[in-house]
Amino acid sequence: MAKITLDNLAHSYLPEPKREEDYALKELNHVWADGEAYALLGASGCGKSTLLNIISGLLQPSQGRILFNDHDVTHQPTAARNIAQVFQFPVVYDTMSVHDNLAFPLRNRGADPTYIRDRVQAIARMIGMEERLGRKARGLTADAKQKISLGRGMVREDVNALLFDEPLTVIDPHMKWELRTQLKALHHEFGHTMIYVTHDQTEALTFADKVVVMHEGRVVQIGTPQELFRRPAHTFVGYFIGSPGMNLLDATVRGDTAVIDGTEIPLGRSYGQPSGKVQIGVRPEFTRLVTGNEGLHVKVGRVEDVGRHKIVRTDSFGTEVNVIAGEGTEIPANAERVRFDPEGINVYVDDWRIGGEAA
Ligand code: ADP
Ligand code: MG
Repeated sequence: MAKITLDNLAHSYLPEPKREEDYALKELNHVWADGEAYALLGASGCGKSTLLNIISGLLQPSQGRILFNDHDVTHQPTAARNIAQVFQFPVVYDTMSVHDNLAFPLRNRGADPTYIRDRVQAIARMIGMEERLGRKARGLTADAKQKISLGRGMVREDVNALLFDEPLTVIDPHMKWELRTQLKALHHEFGHTMIYVTHDQTEALTFADKVVVMHEGRVVQIGTPQELFRRPAHTFVGYFIGSPGMNLLDATVRGDTAVIDGTEIPLGRSYGQPSGKVQIGVRPEFTRLVTGNEGLHVKVGRVEDVGRHKIVRTDSFGTEVNVIAGEGTEIPANAERVRFDPEGINVYVDDWRIGGEAA
């Protein structure tokens, strides 16, 4: 198992990159702690696979170094890095049996036959393929083949890291949850460094100890699910994570007060006099509808009952403001204002969160 260090890493698919936009992966410094389970989360095209393939050695970065436990592997081929990688679509040997597909990485390393038999059995159980070990892979469904790919990725205990690139894409929805649970169990048992790429926030938040959020080739935040929820470092994290995402409102901020369309909103903390594109972000969970004269004026629109709570869509001078009303919370019939819990307010300048000081 290994700690993985990315040192001044960047990548462009162009032969002579000049501008920042030419880079699919903007400059990045990061240490993936040994034995930690990470999710790499972001929209399609943001550079997740590029980053993963650089770590595994399928891609040579145009700049920077990759270290495994302080050992420079930047110019080492994939095979020398001792990692397992599972891709979005199955990679199996059609002419081999399920058993032999799973045993392949172990045989390759000259493992003991008794160990191979036991380990393949255990993995087959995890992926629900015990009954089909003797079958040829040819003719199996894409779903079954992907389970074999996953199994083959998990079969070796001695890898430096396990890399998964949207591995559950072709898996049927019932089985997704089951396999994700198995991956977590595997992590508990062996403590591999794991990086799990996904564009699905639920998958990321349920799988990982730490989530690395990418946006347009850049890592915008690394944090626990709780940190991403409470203190999104970038507006992208605010609206990408959450359902619905964070409300963002243009504001003028003076000290501990924001002013939006003439309404003063207490922020709880003091922010000086920020200039640039200043916005406040507040998640629907920290927002409530009120009557009376205090709060931001809104027009109340649709109410969606999603079971555990209601989502109320409102509009404040052309900006959508979503309110979550918990179970048992009354939505006043004549409500025409929203109030924000100061604890739940973040202030952004040019999309990045600023800290503020205790007021
Ligand atoms: P993700 O995995 O997050 O969907 P990728 O890492 O595959 O994103 O892609 C990041 C960016 O790099 C995208 O703009 C994509 O079009 C571009 N890209 C990916 N692979 C190549 C390639 N082989 N050649 C040129 N551009 C590529
Ligand atoms: Mg990808």
